[in-house]
Amino acid sequence: MIRKLLRRVFTKRAASPLKAQAAEIPVKLHGIQNTMILPAARKVCTVLQEAGFKAYVVGGAVRDLIAGFKPKDYDVATNATPDEVRNLFRRSRIIGRRFRIVHVMSGAETIEVSTFRALHDEDTVTDEHGRVLRDNVWGCIEDDATRRDFTVNALYYDPTTEIVLDFHHGVADLKQKTLRMIGEPRARYREDPVRMLRAVRLAAKLGLQIDPEARHPIREMAELLENVPAARLFDEMLKLLSSGYAVACLKQLREEGLHQGLLPLLDVILKQPLGEKFVWLALANTDDRVLTGKPISPGFLFATLLWHEVLASWELRRKNGELAHPALFEAMDEVLASQAEKLAITRRISADITEIWALQPRFEKRAGKAPYRLLEQPRYRAGYDFLRLRAESGEIDMALPDWWDAFADADTEAREAMLVPDKKDGPRKRRRPRRKPGAKAEADTPAE
Ligand code: ATP
Ligand code: MG
Repeated sequence: MIRKLLRRVFTKRAASPLKAQAAEIPVKLHGIQNTMILPAARKVCTVLQEAGFKAYVVGGAVRDLIAGFKPKDYDVATNATPDEVRNLFRRSRIIGRRFRIVHVMSGAETIEVSTFRALHDEDTVTDEHGRVLRDNVWGCIEDDATRRDFTVNALYYDPTTEIVLDFHHGVADLKQKTLRMIGEPRARYREDPVRMLRAVRLAAKLGLQIDPEARHPIREMAELLENVPAARLFDEMLKLLSSGYAVACLKQLREEGLHQGLLPLLDVILKQPLGEKFVWLALANTDDRVLTGKPISPGFLFATLLWHEVLASWELRRKNGELAHPALFEAMDEVLASQAEKLAITRRISADITEIWALQPRFEKRAGKAPYRLLEQPRYRAGYDFLRLRAESGEIDMALPDWWDAFADADTEAREAMLVPDKKDGPRKRRRPRRKPGAKAEADTPAE
């Protein structure tokens, strides 16, 4: 029934091969009532429309609502220029260089408003691999739709009429669970290699199959990711890991051969049985938190992904005679530095990662004042969660996080009774054998 209706709507498409024309999909087919749209996004559209501009909710939000997901963020597309948008909203600012867009703030929400973009032409600035570096040429809605990456992302919803404008059969593709590239996939990946990662992330999140034409070139083009600025890769990686579908995304990344370009060490880690278990557990745990609306910390996430690399380097350093404490810090620096070439982990997140790692040996000290001091640490909770994951993956004994659980809950007296001098607590000083009273003094004098 739905298919039949869709077909009828699509046969209304215009004959012109040059300009994609929109099918107008009514609410009974796409199911988005305007009350389902975030009020802030609806308001932005109304203000723009009342000022005489066109304005639509576009991209991921429309796609997610049709597919039955809660949108992560809202984007609005308009024929107003950034300056015109800026003038209509008091709380707004223009951002971006590669694409100038306007952030409109409404209450706690930020809506991203972008002006319809023109198709690329010979004036478009690219790097030597064809990656588009800058373009701020405004265009019409048809061009804007063709510029988007996947058909399911080129849907324009008008909250006033509740009609979805569908330029590339996106609604049908979504219903058929297909992620299809608009245009020639190889050319589109060359323009922007991050689209390969987006393909994997969106397919995993929405349960879509990547259309074979878009899927096949990924493996051979994966190396193009090397030319993408490290900061953009980091953003994309973070999106992927915090999507609530990190496990599915990472599995698919491996299948498509894309993981090497992102986390060069990940492959090595996943080959070690303990490392692999740890990473999957951490990601499953993160997905769980995201899907139940709990906050996640990027620092914690990256700390888990890289931990086994730190362990390996730490162990090697200790075998080579370095002291445990400085060796750990050297290992942490080394691992973070080797990541930095590919992924620009921001300084704040790096600091979080380091803090979580550095807390780990402190959990082993269960004597004297040390446990009390650790409990007072602002990052105690993150450190503890990390410790528990290590135990769940089999790296350390579960008795340790259990002890901390009990210690945190216990009263003063019970805590005192729980303190255990830790045998593994650093290199211990060898006690001199106590001299028996009356023994000869030269017994202690080293032979020369
Ligand atoms: P989500 O917000 O769930 O991560 P999204 O598809 O909305 O997914 P955004 O980064 O918010 O992702 O982008 C909004 C829209 O902009 C997309 O739906 C798509 O139409 C367009 N877009 C984003 N990135 C690209 C790209 N690299 N190439 C072409 N179009 C893109
Ligand atoms: Mg979005």
